[in-house]
Amino acid sequence: MNITSLQGAPVFVAGAGIMGAGIAQVAAQAGHEVRLFDMREGAATAAKAKLAGTFDALVTKGKLSAEAAQQTLARIRPVAALADAAGAALVVEAIVEQLDAKRALFAELEGIVGQGAVLATNTSSISVTAIANGLKRPGRVVGMHFFNPVPLMKLVEVVSGLQTDCAVAEAIFELSRAWGKTPVHATSTPGFIVNRIARPYYAETLALLQERAATPAMLDAALRGAGFRMGPCELMDLIGHDTNFAVTNSVFEANFYDKRYQPSGVQREMVAGGLLGRKSGQGFYRYPEGAPALPDTACKLTVAPGQVTIHGSGPIADALAHAVAQTAARYAPQHVCVIARLRDTGWTGLEIDGARLVMSDGRTAGEIAAETGRRDVAVFDRLFTLPPAPGTPLAFAVADEVWRVRAAAWLTELGFVPLPVADTPGLVAARTVAMLINEAADAVLQGVCSEAGADAAMKLGVNYPQGPFEFLSHWSVGEVVNLLDALDHLYRGERYRVSPLLRRRALHH
Ligand code: NAD
Repeated sequence: MNITSLQGAPVFVAGAGIMGAGIAQVAAQAGHEVRLFDMREGAATAAKAKLAGTFDALVTKGKLSAEAAQQTLARIRPVAALADAAGAALVVEAIVEQLDAKRALFAELEGIVGQGAVLATNTSSISVTAIANGLKRPGRVVGMHFFNPVPLMKLVEVVSGLQTDCAVAEAIFELSRAWGKTPVHATSTPGFIVNRIARPYYAETLALLQERAATPAMLDAALRGAGFRMGPCELMDLIGHDTNFAVTNSVFEANFYDKRYQPSGVQREMVAGGLLGRKSGQGFYRYPEGAPALPDTACKLTVAPGQVTIHGSGPIADALAHAVAQTAARYAPQHVCVIARLRDTGWTGLEIDGARLVMSDGRTAGEIAAETGRRDVAVFDRLFTLPPAPGTPLAFAVADEVWRVRAAAWLTELGFVPLPVADTPGLVAARTVAMLINEAADAVLQGVCSEAGADAAMKLGVNYPQGPFEFLSHWSVGEVVNLLDALDHLYRGERYRVSPLLRRRALHH
């Protein structure tokens, strides 16, 4: 189809709520004349008045000149009728999240806008293909999925339905760039990119909570230790458990109840009880207090280090070797610690006078103890930030209680805050990141997005420290598959089903 040029063209925004107002602001700041419409009388005018307040604050902070603020605001015109969409080259719809309402709106707009106008929807969960169904020109319907708050969040998922014209998706991609955003192409599938790939971030923590493997504060600390800005529990409390549970449910349902996406009974109970998070004053934590302090688990070594062997090659083993050298130096010259390095023993970690501190590879401490016939075995979580900053929280588990204190003491000596959790495969961070990689791999396999698109979307849409494929590039596909297989072996069911894309790649490595 021939698209009317979108550069600098008039934009019609339908829905003047949180998202519509933000979209109007961004479009006006990029130089477009914007007409803002809401079916609720006075809502568009109120939204503009609110934007005026936002601009005033930006001027006061020196982030915007008074002149630019005034000109931008003048470009936003609240309108009272859909007929005012005539002449717009682009409509962005941000109305209520209901298929019928969105279809009806676009059907009416078809009779008002020119044939070359693009109809974009900001839906976060409805199929773009379904929204376009029944329209005369379904090819011009495209998803333009912004994130909240629109002026600050860089990501736009440009979502193509089955009938979306490639030229339309490209035009919206380029326009998003011109608006200062980072667009990523996606196909219309449940959750698109971000809301799909992010599911395991919550699901793994909820699964660990269900089996009482750790407390919310410990799980949050473990994932912050892996570089995530917020732990899953504090993040769910911020999003609101009702919203988070609804998104999980919609992805589950849209995937024909594939158990991979099954929601958690832990969260359902919280929603049922009104424990919605920050907005209700209580979720996993009470507010305004927030997460309680972690129990003090730091321990001192009662036995000076004797013989320490660092197992493994690569940056993680190197970082451990460095930490061991520093520990040994603290005990010298009274105690001489003999340090050795073995690079190809098939595991990463430390052997301390025969006892083992093994970085998680999917085997539990109990399994390693059974294999080696020793009780003094501990497993610690994978290290995702190198070198680890002093005081990095690190989950660990022991095969036998007799070794818990010494294992914690060793981790303390090495500079970590030890978090004692139940002996589960992949503990906390390794398991969560492996599942994010797995979900991203399936998204790529199914043509939802590219690897680079998945990485950009997760970093910009939910502030992950690295994209899933970036995490994978510092790991090994074979090790990720082994970890997922270990989880699958223990839990059965479909959640830990390995993506065929990873399985194939593991064969080639
Ligand atoms: P909101 O409730 O703040 O605003 C919706 C506005 O649309 C309201 O002012 C309402 O009066 C108006 N409206 C409803 N039906 C209408 C119609 N038929 N015609 C014109 N106006 C109508 O909602 P929101 O949070 O801004 O979400 C809007 C859309 O953006 C939804 O599709 C939502 O899924 C999507 N979205 C929301 C977020 C978010 O974080 N809030 C993020 C991404 C996408």
